Amino acid sequence: HAKTMGKNNCQFYSPELNQAVHDQLLLEASLSRAIRDDDMVVGYQPKVDLRSGKIVGAEALVRWRHPDKGIIPPDRFIPVAEATGLIVPLGELVLSKVCATLKEMRSDGAPDFVISVNLSARQLRQRQFVTRLGQMLAQHQVEPGSLELEVTESQLMDQPEEAVDVLEQLKGLGVRLSIDDFGTGYSSLSYLRKFPVDFIKIDRSFLSDVSIEGNGVITRAIIGLGHSLRMKVVAEGVETREQIAFLRDYDCDQMQGYYFSPPVPRDSLRQMVSKDTRLPD
Ligand code: C2E
Ligand code: MG
Ligand code: MG
Ligand code: MG
Repeated sequence: HAKTMGKNNCQFYSPELNQAVHDQLLLEASLSRAIRDDDMVVGYQPKVDLRSGKIVGAEALVRWRHPDKGIIPPDRFIPVAEATGLIVPLGELVLSKVCATLKEMRSDGAPDFVISVNLSARQLRQRQFVTRLGQMLAQHQVEPGSLELEVTESQLMDQPEEAVDVLEQLKGLGVRLSIDDFGTGYSSLSYLRKFPVDFIKIDRSFLSDVSIEGNGVITRAIIGLGHSLRMKVVAEGVETREQIAFLRDYDCDQMQGYYFSPPVPRDSLRQMVSKDTRLPD
């Protein structure tokens, strides 16, 4: 027994753990460099209005184009960016790319197009965040109403009072707000009413139960809840015709998902919008 204990106690010095710490530091350094050198690319996933079938907006999703490792998905580096504070310069980089895209969309003749950006709570907690965002919008001559900010339900509920306060300030700027991954974060209903948000996004895990006959109760309940709070409801991760039929039946407002399109490069998005690509009836 003593032997195994001893072994466990030595874990801290194990070469494996040293390797993990080493890897983490390397990742942090190379992420920092990637942000500085602008090795980050933004994909845009179209959002479709379920009644008209038209593309009304898109969600900006960041990827890391690594010189040796190829494209690295956000789940592999956003947590590191959040833990190290690199999320702040990374978030600014994404926002400025999105502002440039919004300007292009407007000159393409799509002035009402809305692009959403994912924010981490750490960005929201920055003292100067609202002021700086206002400056950035003005600099790029972007209409605040064409920018939407997505924050996950669990990040909002981490410090809900503070969140209400920043969201109010952002609302004052004129940007749109949405609660991301709704249904996974234990909101209390009283807070949900206090958050001044325009959209709730149903987490894609609930969409899977729609395909099973007689199911989809949670999706239905979230749509009803959102509408009774005067919010629009967006379904994410829509992959099948059955899910679309269900969402239309229950009056969901917008959807995004692989059924219509994965995230695409900026120019492909512009083409889809200018060709008026639609969801089949
Ligand atoms: P999210 O905001 O919930 O984004 C939706 C994710 O679902 C995206 O993954 C998207 O590509 C994926 N998805 C879309 N449609 C489908 C579908 O039909 N089926 C399935 N299975 N998946 C679908 P992605 O791009 O890997 O992003 C993952 C997460 O990374 C995002 O979740 C978001 O929380 C975070 N993230 C992405 N970009 C940023 C960013 O610029 N800043 C911050 N703070 N977080 C970001
Ligand atoms: Mg999102
Ligand atoms: Mg989501
Ligand atoms: Mg998510």
